[in-house]
Amino acid sequence: MKDALREACALLEQGEVVALPTETVYGLAADAFNPAAVAKVFSVKERPSFDPLIVHIASRGDLKRVAIVPDDIAETVDKLASNFWPGPLTLILPRHPDVPDLVTSGLPTVAVRQSAHPVFRAINKALGRPIAAPSANRFGSISPTSASAVLKELGGRIPLVVDAGACCEGLESTIISIEPREGKKPVFRLHRAGPVTKEMLQPFGKVEKVRDPVGQAPQAPGQLASHYAPRTPLVLLEKPEDFIPEEGKRYGLLSYTGSDDGRYVNLHDWETVESLSPGSGKLAEAAIRLFYVVRRLDEAGLDAIIAEPVSETGLGVAIMDRLRRAAAKPSTLS
Ligand code: AMP
Ligand code: MG
Repeated sequence: MKDALREACALLEQGEVVALPTETVYGLAADAFNPAAVAKVFSVKERPSFDPLIVHIASRGDLKRVAIVPDDIAETVDKLASNFWPGPLTLILPRHPDVPDLVTSGLPTVAVRQSAHPVFRAINKALGRPIAAPSANRFGSISPTSASAVLKELGGRIPLVVDAGACCEGLESTIISIEPREGKKPVFRLHRAGPVTKEMLQPFGKVEKVRDPVGQAPQAPGQLASHYAPRTPLVLLEKPEDFIPEEGKRYGLLSYTGSDDGRYVNLHDWETVESLSPGSGKLAEAAIRLFYVVRRLDEAGLDAIIAEPVSETGLGVAIMDRLRRAAAKPSTLS
């Protein structure tokens, strides 16, 4: 692993992009202060330039290199960083002028977090510069939670994938911006639901969801109606009785527990059944396995993937968000 870290660092220093493990999903990393390297991230991913990247800092002290924290939210940022960093919480803050335009897609804000993954942290620290890293998949596709999934997405396009096994969160970071309020706790605008849940944030502020932008340039393309999508059509079946199979078509079920408590497993003679959390039904396990299982179903040669909903509490909010976007037709891309 030491050689891999050294090689990753050397490539990043040369302005190359490399795929690195994080606790959320695998990221496609570039030196955030090198616009040519950042440009490669966009071209490798075929990501539109209006979709800004998250900047990863090696230490809390590095926050001032990429963002200018206004006085009226400084205490809140401090509390959030103390409680959730390193970890899967991304803060949208006013950007430092040193951050290239390309990273923020010209926005006056920058999205920042500190990763908790030991391999990512070691490389970030050794590089001594912030790392811009979106998920290491082609734009709009399923996020990779293993090195083999990165190779399926970007194999042949990047010089190195550092393999540190499966990601321990499995879903992309929670993204919030902070609005101060006189004499009250701040409002947190939830731009993307993720592993840091509403319940976890509530002690520090009032959480409000950012409404999906319809027909306008998105603030966070992770919020585009269609995203995280398999090539096989995915249908989120909110009620089992809504299922009307077509003659001769091959359907696979994305089940929560694999048992029939939700009345989905015995609803149809499924071609295949994959479970997010076999037997017990734990949301944390479901989150870790979600993209892996969707990818497996996508590779099963089905006509459609039928997904069973999970309860929309805690981590279930982020899981349902990803399922809804995976189910949305690409034509709803704004
Ligand atoms: P990814 O790392 O591929 O999951 O994508 C990063 C997400 O962060 C995208 O959905 C971006 O739009 C979002 N993001 C990055 N910077 C900003 C920003 N300044 N304001 C709002 N969202 C942002
Ligand atoms: Mg992504």
